[in-house]
Amino acid sequence: MQLKVTKSAASIFYSAIIYFHFIIFVLGIVEFVFYKYELMKVISPVTTLNALLITVVLLVIQKLSLNTKTKKYKISIVAASFLCFFLVQISVWFHMLQKFQISLIDSNPFTFSLSAVFLFTLFAAIFVKASYKNIQIIEMKKIKIVVFIAVFIGATVWHQASLSVVKNQEANARAKVYLIETMINKSIEGQKKALSRVKARINNVSFDDFKRLIDIDQKTYTNDYNIIKGMLVLDSKLNFVSGNAFSKNFYSKGMLEKPIIKAWLTQNHDDIQFATNSLTLNSATPILMLLASVEIANNSKYYILNLLDINLLLEKGYLNYLSQYDTYLGLTPSIYFSLDDNNANKTNLSELINSYKHFITQKINVMDLVDHDVYSFINDYESIHIDTIIDQSILWLTFMFIFIFVQVADSSRIIQFRAKHDELTGLLKLTALEAEFLKASYAKRGNNFSTVILKVDFFEEMYISLGYKISDELIKSVSARIYESTHNIALIAKGASDSFVLYFFDISPESLKQKIKSLIMELSEVHLIDNNELNLKVSGGAVTYKQLDLFNIRLNLQQANIALGKAKELGGNQLYFYQQFMEDKHNETVTIRNNLQNALKNNALEVFYQPVHRLNENTITGVEALVRWSNGNEWVSPAKFIPIAETTGQIVQVGEQVLNKVIEDIKKYPQLQNMTVAVNFSTKQIIKDDFASNLLSLLTKNNIIFENFTVEVTESSFQEKKAIEKKLIELVDSGLNVAIDDFGAGYSSLSYLTHQPANIIKIDREFTIGAHLVNTKEQKMLDTIIRVCYDLDKKVIVEGVEDEELIKHLSQFEGIKIQGYFFSKPLPIDSLIAYIKNSKNEHRLLR
Ligand code: C2E
Ligand code: CA
Ligand code: CA
Repeated sequence: MQLKVTKSAASIFYSAIIYFHFIIFVLGIVEFVFYKYELMKVISPVTTLNALLITVVLLVIQKLSLNTKTKKYKISIVAASFLCFFLVQISVWFHMLQKFQISLIDSNPFTFSLSAVFLFTLFAAIFVKASYKNIQIIEMKKIKIVVFIAVFIGATVWHQASLSVVKNQEANARAKVYLIETMINKSIEGQKKALSRVKARINNVSFDDFKRLIDIDQKTYTNDYNIIKGMLVLDSKLNFVSGNAFSKNFYSKGMLEKPIIKAWLTQNHDDIQFATNSLTLNSATPILMLLASVEIANNSKYYILNLLDINLLLEKGYLNYLSQYDTYLGLTPSIYFSLDDNNANKTNLSELINSYKHFITQKINVMDLVDHDVYSFINDYESIHIDTIIDQSILWLTFMFIFIFVQVADSSRIIQFRAKHDELTGLLKLTALEAEFLKASYAKRGNNFSTVILKVDFFEEMYISLGYKISDELIKSVSARIYESTHNIALIAKGASDSFVLYFFDISPESLKQKIKSLIMELSEVHLIDNNELNLKVSGGAVTYKQLDLFNIRLNLQQANIALGKAKELGGNQLYFYQQFMEDKHNETVTIRNNLQNALKNNALEVFYQPVHRLNENTITGVEALVRWSNGNEWVSPAKFIPIAETTGQIVQVGEQVLNKVIEDIKKYPQLQNMTVAVNFSTKQIIKDDFASNLLSLLTKNNIIFENFTVEVTESSFQEKKAIEKKLIELVDSGLNVAIDDFGAGYSSLSYLTHQPANIIKIDREFTIGAHLVNTKEQKMLDTIIRVCYDLDKKVIVEGVEDEELIKHLSQFEGIKIQGYFFSKPLPIDSLIAYIKNSKNEHRLLR
C-alpha cells in the first residue's frame, strides 16, 4: 500500500491526530466540570483518560525511531487494525453491540462512535509513523495552525452537537416525568373532589339514608369511573360494611391489616386523604386509596375508601410519544412502580439501574404532600444512535478536510520550495539566495560579511568515471556535510553542478578561515556511497566585506569566484581569499575569453609546426602542431590562452579548428605524409564518448595513415588518467600513436608508466634542466626515466632541448628523439617545408 503523501504532509497528519486526542481530552474535562447532564456523558471520564493516554503515546512514538519491520508484518498490522476499527464502526452503524448487550465499555453510543474514531486515527498515526520512519518536524507553522483550528472546530462542533442530543434526550425524559406528575395530581384531584361530594352528601344523614345513598354512589361511581375499582365502606372499628366484589376481595385479602394502614385509617381528619402501600401496590391492580371519614346523624363514624387503579391514573395515550423512556416511581425502597404499561414493578433499584444504564431521577410531588423519586430510563437508543452517526460524520468530515487541505497546502508548499531550492540537495538555489541573504541581513546587522564558493576539484572527470547516479549521491553527501557544519552561521546555496555558495554574517576573517579550512578537511574524508569509498578534494574562494547591498552581493560573488579560480590554479584542496590583483588577472582572462571567441568564429587560429629529430640518424621524423593566435597584432601564447579555453570549454572548438588545419596541411604538403604529425588534444576532448570514432573516421576519410598520426595529451591528475585510460587504449589499439606530454611535470609518476597505454613519452623541458651536467642527480634521473621507458617498449621524445651538451649526452640512447629550439622553433607551414628541404640537403653534423 502506497499512500501518495509526502513525508511532511504525513507529519502534519500525525500532528493532527495528536491535536485531536488532546482536544478531546480537554473537551472531556470541560464536560466533566461544566456540563451536568445526568442522562449520559458524551465524553466519559474513561474516554477522557484514553484520549490523554493516546496523546502521550503518540508523542512518545513521534520521537522514537522505529525500525522498519518486514512488509508482511506491516500489512498484518494494518489488516488487524482495520478489522478492529471496522467492527467498532459497524456497531456504531448497526447498533449490533447494543442489541446483543455486549457492552464492552459502556453502552453509551457516543463512547462507541468516539472509540471508532480513536481506533482509526490511532492506527492511522501508527501507520504513518511506520511508513515514514522519521517523521520530519519541518517548519510549517501556518499549515499546522490551520490544521489545529480545523481539528478544534471539528471536535468542538461534534461535542456541542452531541451534548445537545443528550440535552434533548434528558429534557424529554424529564418532560415525561413532569407530565406524569401533572396527570397523577390532576386525576387524584378529580377523585378527591368526587369523594368529597359523596362525603358532603352523606354527612349527618340518617343511617338509612346513609345506607341508601352510599349504595347508589357505590354503583354510579364504579360505573362512571373506570379508575374506581371499588368503594369500600368500613365502620369505626374498620369492619366491612359494604362494597362491590373487588372491594370485598380487597378487604378480605387483608390489604388493610397492616398497623400503619390502620393508624392512617383511624386518625382524625376532615379532608380527603390518600395513600398507597406495598401491599396495595404489589398486585395485578395496584391500588391508590382515597379516604373520607363521615359522621352520620346517630354520631357513628364510617370510613369510605375509594380504591383507585393507579395504572389508570395516567392517560397512557398522552405518553406514547415518549415511549423510549421507561419510568419507575419509587414508592418505597422496595417498590419501584412501573408507570408504563408493559413493565412489571421492580423491588430493587440497583438491579433496575444495572439493566438500563442511562437514566435521570426526578422528584415529583403528589398533591403537595408526598415527594417521590421518579426514574426515567432510556430503553430505546434508536434516535440517539442516529444522532451519533450524524455527529460522528462531523469528525470524519473534519479529518477529510484536513487530509485534502494538507495535501493541497503541502503541494503548493513543495512547489514554492522547489522554486527556491535545488532538487538534488534541498539547498537554496543561487537565484533565491540573494533575496534570502538581503532579507536575513536586516535581522543580523553585522559588519563582517563574507561570501565563499566551494567547488569540488576535478568533479567533471569524476562525474564521467563514476556515472551520474553515484556523482549525484556524492554531491548530496558533500552538501549534507556543508549544511551540517555551517547552516547555523551561513546561508547556503547550491551553485552549478558541483559548487556551493555560502553567505556568512558577522564572522571575522580569521574564524571564517578556520571554519572553511576545517570544512574542506571534513569534505576530503571518505564518502561512503553505495558501498563505494570515495575521496574528493574541495577548493574554496572567499571574499570578506563590510557593507551589504544588492550590487555588492553580485560583485562579491564574482570576486569569490576569482579567488576560487586561484585556489584551483594552486592545485586545489585549499581556500583562497580574494585580493585586488586577482581581479586584474581575472579581467585579463575575461578579455582573452571574449577575444578567443571571436577568433574561433572567424576561424583565425593558425598552426605552427615544430620538427622532431631522431638523434642517431639526425633526420626529421615528425612534427608537432602547435596552435598560434594573433590577437590584434601580437601573438598570445598558448600557455596563456589554452588553460583559459580549458575552463571555458572553448578548448573543444580550438582543438577542432587545429585538427582541421593540420589535416588540410597534410593533404596539401606531401612532405608531411612521410612523417608523424603530432596534434595536442585536451582531456576534455578525449573524454567525449565519440572522440576515438570521430577521429578515426576523419583520418580515414582523408587518407591519413594511422601510424603517422600522434595524439598528444597532458594528464594533470590521477582522476584524469583514470577517466581517459580506456580511450587511449582504444586509440593505440587502432594503430595511432599516443604520446604522454610533459612527462615529469605535475602529476606524472614513474610507477604509473607500467599501466600507461601510450606508446610515446614526451619528457618535459623542466626535467632536462641541469641534466646536461655530467654525473648530476638530474642527469641520473633523466637517464633512469629513459631506460624505464625503453624497458616498457615506449618511444621517448625529449622536449625543449636548447643546448648541445644535452644532445651529446642523450645520443647514447638508441633511437631517442629530440624536439627543441636547438633544432628549430615552431614554424609556419611554409618555413617548415623549407626547413625540411634544407635539412635533407645539408646534414647537420653533430660532434
Ligand atoms: P607542449 O605541447 O608541451 O608544446 C611544447 C611547447 O614548448 C611549445 O610552446 C613550444 O613552443 C615550446 N618549446 C619547444 N621547444 C622549446 C625549447 O627548446 N625551449 C623552450 N623554452 N620552449 C620550447 P607553445 O607553442 O607556447 O605551447 C604551449 C603549450 O600549449 C603546449 O605545450 C601545449 O600544451 C599547448 N598547446 C599548443 N597548441 C595546442 C593545441 O593545438 N591544442 C592543445 N590542446 N594544446 C596546445
Ligand atoms: Ca605537445
Ligand atoms: Ca610538452
